[in-house]
Amino acid sequence: MQIQYAERIRTLPPYLFAAIDQMKREALSKGADVIDLSIGDPDIPTPAHIVDAMKKAVENPEHHRYPSYEGMFSYRKAVSDWYRQRFNIELDPEKEVLSLIGSKEGIGHIPLAFIDPGDIVLVPSPGYPVYPVGTKFAGGVSYFMPLREDNNFLPDLDSIPEDVAKKAKLMFINYPNNPTAATADEKFFKKVIEFAKQYNIIVCHDAAYSEIFYEEKPVSFMQIDGAKEVGVEFHSLSKTYNMTGWRIGFVVGNREVLAGLGKVKTNLDSGVFQAIQEASIVALQTDDNVLEQIRDIYRERRDMLCEGLKSAGFEVKKPMATFYLWVKVPQKISSIDFVAQLLKEVEVLCTPGVGFGEHGEGYIRFALTQSKERIKEAVERIRRLKL
Ligand SMILES: *Cc1c(COP(=O)(O)O)cnc(C)c1O
Repeated sequence: MQIQYAERIRTLPPYLFAAIDQMKREALSKGADVIDLSIGDPDIPTPAHIVDAMKKAVENPEHHRYPSYEGMFSYRKAVSDWYRQRFNIELDPEKEVLSLIGSKEGIGHIPLAFIDPGDIVLVPSPGYPVYPVGTKFAGGVSYFMPLREDNNFLPDLDSIPEDVAKKAKLMFINYPNNPTAATADEKFFKKVIEFAKQYNIIVCHDAAYSEIFYEEKPVSFMQIDGAKEVGVEFHSLSKTYNMTGWRIGFVVGNREVLAGLGKVKTNLDSGVFQAIQEASIVALQTDDNVLEQIRDIYRERRDMLCEGLKSAGFEVKKPMATFYLWVKVPQKISSIDFVAQLLKEVEVLCTPGVGFGEHGEGYIRFALTQSKERIKEAVERIRRLKL
């Protein structure tokens, strides 16, 4: 028999991260001591009080059955309480909060609810690869909005052609941003809302990194007047509470948009394991001191890597949020070639910017997801490089 893959997966762009993984495995097999700064996955464990809540919840047979697809009411209530406390926003836990099996799941599925074949989705480049892939799986077409340094890595909405804006149904934005580490202010979000209203575009704001900040607390898109009319905000416990493996997130905002996504989800999945939801309620009530300790760890690593890279001759700005550094490639070679060179010569691995889209070329991304001892060692090695 001949197995033939569907068009939608045959035509996916090559998964660059698989190639990087391969490079890493080859280096490791040769005995290299690779310092991997390519991973967007916290190395710090989930706080103990959350793990303890999970242990207790998993013993309750009530949680062993199918959960409700929209999430337990108590979980959605905990999300709305968290939004009130953190952002001073009121959300109706019944209609304006939906649980997700990680925010990636919701982001990947939302185009299925709103995109017909040929519809345009506005997607940032560089950006989280799930935005264009989810778009493609729904038959949509991504229009890439470049994020340029001279515009603080915000998309320039005025440069989107009129005919594109008219055909666009959905827009993804993400601040604090992966991979550029940029943050957005209220003025930008206001502009997004105006634009969305003018062209009837649903805004999907991905706020996965809202709690990984160093100076100012990032604003929520939902805090801006009119946001609930035009869009939703995706969120995740993954980065905030070091829970990437638990697979739980949520989306809040416009109730009709949530109903559309909910319809897709009822037909595809059966919600999040209730014990995980129980533990996540406890997570959402975490004392801010615990989060501040996590931020302190990243802050120290950030300062160490930033200053180290600068002293090695790199051009890098200290990020105000996220656990990434977005760094200019210091030579006139592609980001992939530079990453390969760095791995070969000093056994430090980072991510080529082009892996996040065409407009990421010229940059590399370092993740602060290794101990300060390893980051210090990485800096010492990189300083030996002749740039
Ligand atoms: C990590 C990340 C997410 C969160 O993914 P989960 O599925 O919730 O673990 C979402 N968006 C971006 C940009 C991310 O980097």
